[in-house]
Amino acid sequence: MRRIYLDNNATTPVLPEVLDAMRPYFEEHFGNASSIHHHGQQTRAAIERARESVADLLGCRAPEIVFTSGGTEGDNLAIFGLAKAGDHVITSTVEHHAVMNACKHLEKKGCEVTSIPVDGRGRVDPDDVKRALRPATKLVTIMTANNETGVLQPVEDIGNVAAEADVYFHTDAVQAAGKISIDVNKFGCDLLTISGHKVHAAQGVGALYVRKGTLLEAMLYGGSHERSRRAGTENVPGIIGLGKAAEIALAALERGDDKKMAVMRDRLERELLQLEATGLNGDGAPRVPNTANIYFDFIEGEALVIALDLKGLAVSTGAACSSGAIEPSHVLTAMGLRPDRARASIRFSLGKQSTPDDVDFALSVVPGTVARLRELSPLYHKAAINS
Ligand SMILES: *Cc1c(COP(=O)(O)O)cnc(C)c1O
Repeated sequence: MRRIYLDNNATTPVLPEVLDAMRPYFEEHFGNASSIHHHGQQTRAAIERARESVADLLGCRAPEIVFTSGGTEGDNLAIFGLAKAGDHVITSTVEHHAVMNACKHLEKKGCEVTSIPVDGRGRVDPDDVKRALRPATKLVTIMTANNETGVLQPVEDIGNVAAEADVYFHTDAVQAAGKISIDVNKFGCDLLTISGHKVHAAQGVGALYVRKGTLLEAMLYGGSHERSRRAGTENVPGIIGLGKAAEIALAALERGDDKKMAVMRDRLERELLQLEATGLNGDGAPRVPNTANIYFDFIEGEALVIALDLKGLAVSTGAACSSGAIEPSHVLTAMGLRPDRARASIRFSLGKQSTPDDVDFALSVVPGTVARLRELSPLYHKAAINS
């Protein structure tokens, strides 16, 4: 059966060039980067080259990059590395669980947390961040791009607010990396998280940008790896792959591949929105070019995901971590969607491997599947009678 993957916000396939770059670090270049001999030195040099590549993608200097096990660790290191009992932290209501649940835990540790609401398009108002500032505010943590809707936050304005107040600003840019150009100085952030497997590198590796001079407390104690900010023998093949993926992502952005992706995404979106009782979540907001989050009223999103999977199309109801849970998406409800509409929403997310043929395939299976599920839906028939 033909299988088309449009769930790249959950994870992306490792690109062949990335795998080729990684392979020697499982084989002949197996050294521990902390060893003094030839094997260790070779590995050390390769890690430092990867660090340069990641720094180039983010517009920072190589020593400001800390390699991590992924986005979750980067977010946790930024948050717990800075906020201590008595501190106040500002976040938003639409963060990924890696930030949201870390902030919940901060409250148990004696911090106060303010969650800034979003408007109907999913955007935070930087003035709300300004109004939430207190003398005890230590950190603002607000994402760059949302994983469910692709909506971009006004990070530059939030960065300005934080800088004026002399408060640290962390942004989870896991879903922005490779999709829009990132510049930590333009963003005005002190910390920024990325994850390998969202940019066509491997699962289990990521990076945290930490602005020079930021006093970050480590979470792991052991050797002096990563300038004592993250102890533990490095995930060498993962890091080499992330470096390669960063180079590929930067070159693609410079070529304008993001615009090609937006053309494919826009066509998918436009065609699907022709169906009755549908709508775009995040409509009118600036978004990353690969994501479309659409509601199909009168349908359970979970049922649609399963029905489409049987036809060979992989999509998602949003946050992968909440699959199986009956709760509607916290992101969509924060945007003001009714719970039934939030549950009727599906995320389509393209990757570098996606082609116009993949979009054609989606367009060939989604409308019929939606119609069939609606035929089975008593809510749909009731609405038809009432209209
Ligand atoms: C996937 C994701 C994470 C978590 O990254 P992992 O590498 O899977 O731990 C964090 N934030 C956002 C926005 C994500 O999409």
